[in-house]
Amino acid sequence: MIPTTGSYHLINVRLHASLSPGLAATFNRDGFALADITVDDGKISSIAAHAASRVPAGAIDLGGRIVLPCFVDCHTHIDKGHIWPRKPNPDGTFIGALNATGADRVARWSADDVARRMDFSLRSAYAHGTRALRTHIDSVAPQEEISWPVFETMREAWRGRIELQGACLLGIEGVRDKKWFDRLAKRVAAAKGVLGVVTYMVPDLEELLDHVFAQAIKHGLDLDFHADETDDVAAISLKKIAEAALWNGFEGKILVGHCCSLARQPDLEVLDTLDKVAKAGLAIVSLPMCNLYLQDRRSDSTTPRWRGVTLLHEMRARGIPVAVASDNTRDPFYAYGDLDMLEVYRMATRILHFDHPVADWPQAVTATPAKVMRLDGFGALAAGGAADFVLFKGRSWTELLSRPESDRIVVRAGRAIDRQLPDYAELDGLMVE
Ligand SMILES: [Zn+2]
Repeated sequence: MIPTTGSYHLINVRLHASLSPGLAATFNRDGFALADITVDDGKISSIAAHAASRVPAGAIDLGGRIVLPCFVDCHTHIDKGHIWPRKPNPDGTFIGALNATGADRVARWSADDVARRMDFSLRSAYAHGTRALRTHIDSVAPQEEISWPVFETMREAWRGRIELQGACLLGIEGVRDKKWFDRLAKRVAAAKGVLGVVTYMVPDLEELLDHVFAQAIKHGLDLDFHADETDDVAAISLKKIAEAALWNGFEGKILVGHCCSLARQPDLEVLDTLDKVAKAGLAIVSLPMCNLYLQDRRSDSTTPRWRGVTLLHEMRARGIPVAVASDNTRDPFYAYGDLDMLEVYRMATRILHFDHPVADWPQAVTATPAKVMRLDGFGALAAGGAADFVLFKGRSWTELLSRPESDRIVVRAGRAIDRQLPDYAELDGLMVE
């Protein structure tokens, strides 16, 4: 359906107000308007409100099908992905995930093992329509020396298809070994990565956070935290991160993931934290599928009673940038997933109520993570931008989010890509016990 050469016109496409800056059109209650797009040499040369009276010769009429910009997935773990068959989570708990993954990493994560699983993940993400992806990289010694060179090679190999970013990942207690941590920060800086840690309520949390911020400032790095992935109301490291950002006068970008415990805390505590998060300019990413899987997992075979996600609506109301992302895929932290951001958005709509009204929630998988990742022109459709978009069958939110849209068309630089997903059997050789 999409021509393979030259320029072409797609008419009667449905674009969303939140993702089409500059489109002057009449948007319906769901935020959609009918539009015409002209593609020239891999770029969008014009977008205008659909005009039935002036249809260019040879135009392709899409009958009101939805077109979204390619997705931006700002929180993943493609170094862990797809180890499930050889290392399942024994009980579905967070601690079960941590222990299983740690054991697998020590035993199996050679450069070849990490590279093959990463490439598999990237091929899936690309086929589903993702254009940029940030992965955390387990950087507990000696894994950082194995995984960061693999990441750098992978980023080069995928340039032009997926813009790949890496953030180191280790528990905050690892920062106590300052000499080692400073060396890691230097290594991350050399790879143009992002400095990341997992915060826990350790007694010296403030001092350790100060050191993380000092290293980020020294090397000019952005920050990425996993915080409060628990139902424990005493977990308030999100607030501690905001406070540390303020008193360190940090000017880079900070993304904080999870923040599950916030949803369990008393209102006054929540308001104080959100004030600080807004003031410090933090962005938040919720990982709804992984949270649903791990949070409120009960050892007594009773039914989970909460959804695990954080307070995205309250954050958005305060102007805090909020995103949703894939997180883990087929590893002990989440047994499922395929880096399909449409699935993430569909699940987020149901779990987090991204509807009635939909408003600008579609930015949570596109424009907002693009800003957090400093990717100009990603996550929106505009004249002069790359012709990187996904063309769906659905013509409304209810049509789009009710089916998997496995037959979506992904257009990159104006051309429809081959959307063949990698075969799981490719990984069989890595899964032998
Ligand atoms: Zn994560």
